[in-house]
Amino acid sequence: MVTGRFAPSPSAPLHLGNLRTALLAWAFARREGGRFLVRIEDLTPGPGGDPRTATVVRGQLADLAAVGVTHDGPVLRQSERRDRHDRALDRLVAAGGTYPCYCTRREVREAAAAPHARPDVTAYPGTCRDLTGVERAERERDGRVPALRLRADGEVVEVRDRLRGVVRAAVDDVVLRRADGVAAYHLALVVDDADQGVDQVVRGDDLLPHTPVQVLLQRRLGLPTPEYAHVPLVLGPDGARLAKRHGAVTLADRSAAGDSAARVVGRLAASLGLAGPAEELTAAELLARFDPDALPTEPWVWSG
Ligand code: GLU
Repeated sequence: MVTGRFAPSPSAPLHLGNLRTALLAWAFARREGGRFLVRIEDLTPGPGGDPRTATVVRGQLADLAAVGVTHDGPVLRQSERRDRHDRALDRLVAAGGTYPCYCTRREVREAAAAPHARPDVTAYPGTCRDLTGVERAERERDGRVPALRLRADGEVVEVRDRLRGVVRAAVDDVVLRRADGVAAYHLALVVDDADQGVDQVVRGDDLLPHTPVQVLLQRRLGLPTPEYAHVPLVLGPDGARLAKRHGAVTLADRSAAGDSAARVVGRLAASLGLAGPAEELTAAELLARFDPDALPTEPWVWSG
């Protein structure tokens, strides 16, 4: 049985683009009779649990329920899984697949802008890749706390995407553990997907460029690679990725403007070619009409 998931970051309430992606991920899994999970990617909650984050999470879960995106089992919180992330990091370190990096963001930016740098190939210019033990000790004496980077060795990884075909890219030496000790996004996501048995990842196609590094991490950790489907985004009228500044784009905003949840699902279904412009729909009705092979390939521009 396939297991899909939706994994929002609790940085802001879900907008129509997030809701559309959630409905699609849910529909992909459910049409195969699969399981569907929700995971909150709250790697860095504020001290003592940020009350704003808690409010955002409650709202996100309520919105998913309101549009009919049902999920199985408890909602996983990434912040509660530090141990699992750390164990995976330990394995990568033991296998020699990482190195400490003492660069500040500014240093990375400046080195990447230098004339010999090839930011078109990889973003990290490799400053700390081959430091000697003495050089590392010097930096630590200066009080620098290192992040941990992936030693990708410029490996080219090929990813097969159900909607986008084959994507190949050289993997960058991404940060796997930040200097504050918290596992970085790619590492945590790969470990959590594997632990949850996720074998179908449906998400916005802005994340497609991040997929090769995640596949490389899966391989290095001996974890299975899920099936991927990167779906087109929703854009604002200015062509930028939909955001709060584009107006009434959350379920609460739409409700204040007089749209029921069924109307919102209907509009999202219409954007996918699954409903007429004025229809109201439940998620179950959307699912009955859903055909993964007939999805639009272009982004949808929300015009209010
Ligand atoms: N948490 C990520 C986001 O909100 C999604 C990660 C994923 O779906 O793989 O952009």
